[in-house]
Amino acid sequence: MSRFLSERYRVLQPYVPGEQPQNRKYVKLNTNENPFPPNPAVIEAVKKAAEDLQLYPDPDCKLLRTAMADYFRVGPDSVMLTNGSDETLYYAFLAFCDRENPALFADITYGFYPVYAEMTGVPYRELPLREDFTQDIPGYCGNEATVFIANPNAPTGIALTPGELETVLKANKDHVVVVDEAYVDFGAESCIPLTRCYENLLVIQTASKSRSMAGARLGWAIGSPELIADLNRIRYSTNPYNINRMTMAAGLATLQTDDYTRTCCSAVRANREYTAEKLQALGFEVLPSEANFLFARHPRVDGETIYLKLKERGVLVRHFTKERIRQYNRISIGTLAGMNVLLEKLNEILEEEL
Ligand SMILES: *Cc1c(COP(=O)(O)O)cnc(C)c1O
Repeated sequence: MSRFLSERYRVLQPYVPGEQPQNRKYVKLNTNENPFPPNPAVIEAVKKAAEDLQLYPDPDCKLLRTAMADYFRVGPDSVMLTNGSDETLYYAFLAFCDRENPALFADITYGFYPVYAEMTGVPYRELPLREDFTQDIPGYCGNEATVFIANPNAPTGIALTPGELETVLKANKDHVVVVDEAYVDFGAESCIPLTRCYENLLVIQTASKSRSMAGARLGWAIGSPELIADLNRIRYSTNPYNINRMTMAAGLATLQTDDYTRTCCSAVRANREYTAEKLQALGFEVLPSEANFLFARHPRVDGETIYLKLKERGVLVRHFTKERIRQYNRISIGTLAGMNVLLEKLNEILEEEL
């Protein structure tokens, strides 16, 4: 830290992304990427878009925004595109939280929520998940707070129904409820249709996971035109050219290759069920996941030991040091071959440890 850094940021604890090793080849099951490459049509579209790189992209993202609106059956003014959904989340903290409207989110959820709260100087409260890691729905109700819920939740994978989220929306009529649907395509039901009835609902999605586009950085927010206008005020005051030409083209192409996305998601779901069963057979406790990862612990082997020993053997999973979940590891769902390598290495590790 230099002596020049603003006082504001001296205590900030930045978000720590999962390891992205650039040297050794790992079976990489630590950042919830899709194991399948993007559709060839997406790659072609990106190449084509690169021909116009000398020109700024459209800050209004009109083509992609209207295509997205048609796809989700909402109006074009109900959509805003961002550089990954993390950018939308940041804007939501800036736009809808302050001293009078603190943020409220689960104690075990996406690690970026508390970072954005700190970054934007917004007070926040963490609502403990229940003992079984399910969401405490009544706990979100009537708090005079802006609510952030990941659905399915990360890193647990547990999903809520739109009905449960409606309870939260009805009990927080004077506050925005942000539903982060980064993993919704792997089995949960989207709340996007509810944006037509609830002016306080903001839904956030991303192409990073289900659409195999983590490298493109494309996310979007869907909500009432008023909420979207608020977010655009922030976006135009921060980074109006946030979607580059290649990403814009990739976004259009992925919407047109939906069958491919669905096929990849089905394969991930099948591999998830297969892996959950095998992990249980090895003695792991596995939370019921609707996402592209599993959250699992072994009752007799330390979580960090499992993480480190897997890494030595060339398999990366995600371990968190937070007390309540330090015995767990989050395992992204890869190809069947990848999952079999994981299971084989776990078998070896358990033999050593038990
Ligand atoms: C991955 C993830 C995001 C952000 O993804 P982007 O790559 O920035 O679109 C947001 N929320 C949750 C819960 C995630 O896991």
